[in-house]
Amino acid sequence: MVVEVDGHAGFCWGVVRAVDIAERTMEANGELFCLGDIIHNPEEIKRLEAKGLRTITHADLKNLGGKHVLLRAHGEPPGTFELARQYNITIVDATCPVVSKVQERIRKFYDAGYQIAIFGKAEHAEVVGLLGQTKGDAIVVKSVEEIDKIDLRRKTVLFSQTTMDKGGFHLLKEELQRRVKELVVASTEETAEEHFRAKDTICGQVFGRDRKLRIFAREHDVVVFVAGRKSSNGKVLFEMCREENSRTHFVERGEEVDPLWFAGAARVGVTGATSTPQWLMEEVRKSIEVLSEAPRGTAAAG
Ligand code: SF4
Repeated sequence: MVVEVDGHAGFCWGVVRAVDIAERTMEANGELFCLGDIIHNPEEIKRLEAKGLRTITHADLKNLGGKHVLLRAHGEPPGTFELARQYNITIVDATCPVVSKVQERIRKFYDAGYQIAIFGKAEHAEVVGLLGQTKGDAIVVKSVEEIDKIDLRRKTVLFSQTTMDKGGFHLLKEELQRRVKELVVASTEETAEEHFRAKDTICGQVFGRDRKLRIFAREHDVVVFVAGRKSSNGKVLFEMCREENSRTHFVERGEEVDPLWFAGAARVGVTGATSTPQWLMEEVRKSIEVLSEAPRGTAAAG
């Protein structure tokens, strides 16, 4: 049995940047407080905690005057910056520039009087940051079933949380376009395009991976998907793998690997989410090899 690590899996650019900012700040200051998990991967958090990272919640901010607080790649609503000013906290802003750009675009349309709809999960930290750009007024919908929450009598712009599934976004967009056309036919004042706009803000780092991940899953007899259980991107990519290969298993770390999964398999693939560090996938590969005494293999990039 050969075990191969997916050469395309692992940290996205935004997460690499956030971890890099955190490590450089800790080298300079010795300690750093991060508002929420820096990434949804407990193993990587443990590694950074050993260097001085402390994970905090918004309720802790009032006790951190004079300290450095990191804002992770997901970004934060404007209220967090206000609190930091109030408590004399130095913000180390590691918001992914892709997310900052989405925040800026949402703010622009909101200020121009549009209703903002966000395809995403209301409880996700990035969505909390996006909602904050609209003083909490944006409507969050996670599927086409929730479409009635959007008041289509108002001029509307649809955005997406950056890690959502493109298929779901397009279903929602098409249904909204269909409904808006019906509404606008009754009025001659404006076109459907003026009344409703859709901005596909799904990150290319996530979308670009879909095709390669599907191929990787099909090419292997068994796939072990490594991610933190809280990772939204991890859940989407894991489901994608499972659609291609029903023998796909989710683990957070090497110890969770079950040797029974590999019965009769010749090729096993190890892959992960954009929040999964490369070293962790290597660790899982080693666990599988130890369990099966398999020879080492590496998937070709391309
Ligand atoms: S998935 Fe995209 S938007 Fe999200 S942190 Fe990574 S690069 Fe940034």
